[in-house]
Amino acid sequence: MDMGAGLGVSGAAGMPLVLGTTKLLGVIGDPIAHSLSPVMHNRAIAALGADFVYVAFPIAAADLDVAIAGFRACGVVGFSVTIPHKRSIMPLLTAVADEAAALGAVNTVWWDGAINGWRGTNTDVAGLMGPLQSLRSRWTGEVATVLGCGGAARAAIAACQKLGFDRVRLVGRNEAQRSAIQTDFLPPNPLACTIDGFGWDAIAAALDGAALVVNATPVGMHPHGDDSPLAPELWSHPQAGAIAYDLIYNPRPTQFLKDAQGAGLTAIDGLEMLAGQGAAALSIWLGQPAPLAVMRQALIDHLGA
Ligand code: NAP
Repeated sequence: MDMGAGLGVSGAAGMPLVLGTTKLLGVIGDPIAHSLSPVMHNRAIAALGADFVYVAFPIAAADLDVAIAGFRACGVVGFSVTIPHKRSIMPLLTAVADEAAALGAVNTVWWDGAINGWRGTNTDVAGLMGPLQSLRSRWTGEVATVLGCGGAARAAIAACQKLGFDRVRLVGRNEAQRSAIQTDFLPPNPLACTIDGFGWDAIAAALDGAALVVNATPVGMHPHGDDSPLAPELWSHPQAGAIAYDLIYNPRPTQFLKDAQGAGLTAIDGLEMLAGQGAAALSIWLGQPAPLAVMRQALIDHLGA
């Protein structure tokens, strides 16, 4: 007897029903148990009634090539890529989208029969940009301040470049990392933009007149929810009506966003980027628009906020 008969492909509690025909999606990383991607993707898959399921694969750096070959053998349709594989996956792909190559990071991969190989792209930048585009259509002539010099900061800089910001002020405690980013975003990189580097001792100057302030450090993340990378009095420096964007999604809101809102800024939290990059990836794998609102709600429900 077919236990799935009459249930379509939507199982219990907003989960997809897994059948013999079900196609596999997932996320690779190390560690990966903390990932919220299965929660949002499976809720979206169930909402669409699509015959897919999305699981987390813990894959150590040394096993990456074997795992990807195994994915091909098992018929995996596509997968998300997180730390530490976003750069090291690139040589294992047959084609990498220009933007992902310019950024040096891939977060979304899918099998393309037409090239008989894996294709990779980066949806983090689109995920980051989405809520900014819905708040304002024109950023020309404006300055953005980005706190931190890791992978998320690079995605934020790329988003600012694509939105048309005049320049980015990059704040980091490691001068070598700051300089490396400045160099990587020079022409002929298609994401080239003007980046001024600041140490934390010059944070007030870095914030002066900014239209957007992005926290791309982990400062303020659970369980250190009382921390913020910015002292409350610094929020007088960005321009009136500026946007504060914390890439952290737990807690909601962070202390950074509470202080920014207290000073009259508009707040965006990291859940928007997480849901946005996920929706962009799912739409590639399924070949149809992904339900962004469903994915956002799945994250909110899971985080209990
Ligand atoms: P990362 O590569 O480790 O970079 C973190 C950056 O923050 C580094 O430049 C680091 O400097 C700096 N930093 C760390 N602790 C600091 C402190 N106490 N004071 C000042 N700077 C500090 O991490 P990432 O992948 O870029 O992620 C950064 C944040 O973005 C995390 O909170 C992550 O959860 C979030 N994120 C969110 C999404 C989303 O979808 N919402 C996606 C990606 C990342 P050092 O190198 O000197 O330590």
